[in-house]
Amino acid sequence: MKKKKTGLKSRLLIVLAIIFFIPLVWVSIVRFEGEKPLVEIDGPMKTLNAAQQLAFTASDMKSGLRKIRIALIKDGKEIILYAKEFATIGVLRTGLVNKQTFFIEAIEPEKIGLRDGKAVLQISVTDYSWRNWLHGNTTCLEKEVIIDTKPPIIDILTKMHNITRGGSGLVIYKISEPCPKSGVYVEDVFFPGYSGYFKDPDIFLSFFALDYGGKGRNKIFAEAVDESGNVSKANFYYYIKNKKFKQDVINISDDFLDRKIPELESEISSIVDVDRKSMIDQFLLINRHLREANFKKISELVSKTDNFLYWQKKFLRLPKAAKKAGFADTRTYKYKGKVIDHQTHLGIDLASVAEASVPAANKGKVKFANFLGIYGKTVLIDHGFGLFSMYSHLSKFHVTEGQIVVKGEEIGRTGKTGLAGGDHLHFGILVNKTFVNPLEWWDDNWIKNNITSKLDSVRSRLKK
Ligand SMILES: [Zn+2]
Repeated sequence: MKKKKTGLKSRLLIVLAIIFFIPLVWVSIVRFEGEKPLVEIDGPMKTLNAAQQLAFTASDMKSGLRKIRIALIKDGKEIILYAKEFATIGVLRTGLVNKQTFFIEAIEPEKIGLRDGKAVLQISVTDYSWRNWLHGNTTCLEKEVIIDTKPPIIDILTKMHNITRGGSGLVIYKISEPCPKSGVYVEDVFFPGYSGYFKDPDIFLSFFALDYGGKGRNKIFAEAVDESGNVSKANFYYYIKNKKFKQDVINISDDFLDRKIPELESEISSIVDVDRKSMIDQFLLINRHLREANFKKISELVSKTDNFLYWQKKFLRLPKAAKKAGFADTRTYKYKGKVIDHQTHLGIDLASVAEASVPAANKGKVKFANFLGIYGKTVLIDHGFGLFSMYSHLSKFHVTEGQIVVKGEEIGRTGKTGLAGGDHLHFGILVNKTFVNPLEWWDDNWIKNNITSKLDSVRSRLKK
């Protein structure tokens, strides 16, 4: 009998254990979990501008989010920017929200009475755990930020800016504080400014260009954006001289297609499907899509330039050569008498004897020396501060990328590689990503009036 009683007791204990201890264990593990919520701020957030946006994500995968509080602390003053409490599903259960991204449209330091300078951004997030006497786990993120609500001041140091359509210009300006981005906008095309020419690191040179297309008055201005994102714009005086460009007709012959398509077939077939396409259709794909891809490559190449003015005085033109095509000529392509395409010629074609010696137009660093689709064998030289010269359709080149070349030094020989009918040099000049008229850069007077006189006048002003 006694044995039976003890058996009954132990079974009762097991049942009691199931009823009390297991939930107790569950509560202590799950409801008293000690994992802190996570907070992540989007972006570097080193500074706060006049209307700073803030985005952050808070998460707590176990008990869920209970409350969030964001404050800005400066000079002993604490200003609450955001506070929110989250709902729960029930006493024994967790929060409704495990993860959420929050946006503050605009923190306006001036409106909330905070001056520029160092401050602390504090984000505190608490979860629905029963830890800490039911107060939950709290993560408190503190980040030192600099309140900077003042836009940079741009001081334009150059007075006159005469620009011819398709041509180049130079603006020199000084900015009042370090700016990760500054330069000149010509409509929506941005021409970055570079420091390094003058000893003062706040003085920038921005070479800019006026597209050959377009009419009337273009909107041109300087802009600077400081580290906090405060933007300043500055106008300067400019005069635009309009220029008309030529029209040209190019007749595409079967002989030309027979010679050129095999050379460029592999290049175009990596961009578009040319299977079972006729020669003339392949030509059109090359003239449109390969041209576009080649320009994209050039844009990438010129996006990095040396902060050093390598060149001096006028740029050299291919000696003893006749001009065969001009800058910004509108070309109409005809095949068997029919118009098949239109393109703009963005360089000057110069023809001399076959395989004539090609000199570097001025001192610079070789940026690219390779085959480049429609341009054939091409050399691209960086003359500093975003100015480049380009030599195309070469039969050979004897320079390598990174090499410094001096004015007049032979860099290669003319030829007819790429989309060239006969032996010639296609000579191009780029200001940043825009092809400009090389005529200006071949002209000592133009360079003196538009570039060197500006550099000299700023230099003499700085000496005073
Ligand atoms: Zn050309």
